[in-house]
Amino acid sequence: MTILVVAEHTNAALAPATLNTVAAAQKIGGDIHVLVAGQGVSAAAEAAAKIAGVAKVLVADNAAYANQLPENVAPLVAELGKSYSHILAAATSNGKNILPRVAAQLDVDQISEIVSVESADTFKRPIYAGNAIATVQSSAAIKVITVRSTGFDAAAAEGGSAATEAVSGPADAGKSSFVGEELAKSDRPELTAAKIVVSGGRGMQNGDNFKHLYSLADKLGAAVGASRAAVDAGFVPNDMQVGQTGKIVAPQLYIAVGISGAIQHLAGMKDSKVIVAINKDEEAPIFQVADYGLVADLFEAIPELEKAI
Ligand SMILES: Cc1cc2nc3c(=O)[nH]c(=O)nc-3n(C[C@H](O)[C@H](O)[C@H](O)COP(=O)(O)OP(=O)(O)OC[C@H]3O[C@@H](n4cnc5c(N)ncnc54)[C@H](O)[C@@H]3O)c2cc1C
Repeated sequence: MTILVVAEHTNAALAPATLNTVAAAQKIGGDIHVLVAGQGVSAAAEAAAKIAGVAKVLVADNAAYANQLPENVAPLVAELGKSYSHILAAATSNGKNILPRVAAQLDVDQISEIVSVESADTFKRPIYAGNAIATVQSSAAIKVITVRSTGFDAAAAEGGSAATEAVSGPADAGKSSFVGEELAKSDRPELTAAKIVVSGGRGMQNGDNFKHLYSLADKLGAAVGASRAAVDAGFVPNDMQVGQTGKIVAPQLYIAVGISGAIQHLAGMKDSKVIVAINKDEEAPIFQVADYGLVADLFEAIPELEKAI
């Protein structure tokens, strides 16, 4: 049994989600190969070769893969993937863009967003926005799987010394081209990788008031997230949204400020190790999942908390 892990990376560096995906592959068992498809990926490939438990790194360095266009990367993964028992990728935007096409091209079902491995053919995955966990057994010849990174502790980034092999495959499919991207720049940690997340909801009242959360987050070394209501109201950009239709996070500490705790929000953060809720309504459902709850006006509690740190 050999497993192909499609690396998540920025060309220059490997993304942390790759380590969680390798950890899921380790649970399945067998040899693990990591595919790094991109352009100018030598540093990312070197990092992949150092991951504990990785046997081989396949490097597909081609301008056609530079921006992870799924029309170009999926045929490569499908072609290489034919000789593997499992193909895994993180359930990131890229993974969710590429793997369904791979599954279609290999004529198998995809198993989406697994949070646990029961055996080589049986996996658990959340359904109904995380309100139920389905156990899925697959008889597909090649199992194409996206991995919810919060379900697996990261594999050790150091300790491996995998062989590296250059590979090639279908390149530019000619169906799409990369026009440009505007990346949000922030000195704070990335939301899905942060150990501490401070999130604000509609209770923040406006975007300007998020400054209270930014300054608390900077003291804590935290990322800042938001509920969909805060995003929809235009307080903050939508890449900060946590929840069913936003980002899934599971930090060591999640501080929910002025967030009621709708199930769609909980779907994105309820696996956090410690949850703190600050809300002026003691009946708010967020308190049902909170380890520590403070019934207070956030405009008094947040400055006090910041002063005390
Ligand atoms: C298909 C679908 C997908 C969705 N996906 C998401 C998603 O991904 N993420 C998400 O978050 N939501 C999502 N939602 C929306 C979700 O149902 C809720 O509407 C949303 O989470 C509510 O956001 P909120 O808690 O900020 O606002 P509210 O529910 O309005 O809660 C605001 C809270 O702030 C408190 N508050 C107000 N003022 C203060 C104060 N001064 N001090 C302290 N507390 C205060 C209030 O007591 C209240 O509990 C989705 C909904 C649907 C239908």
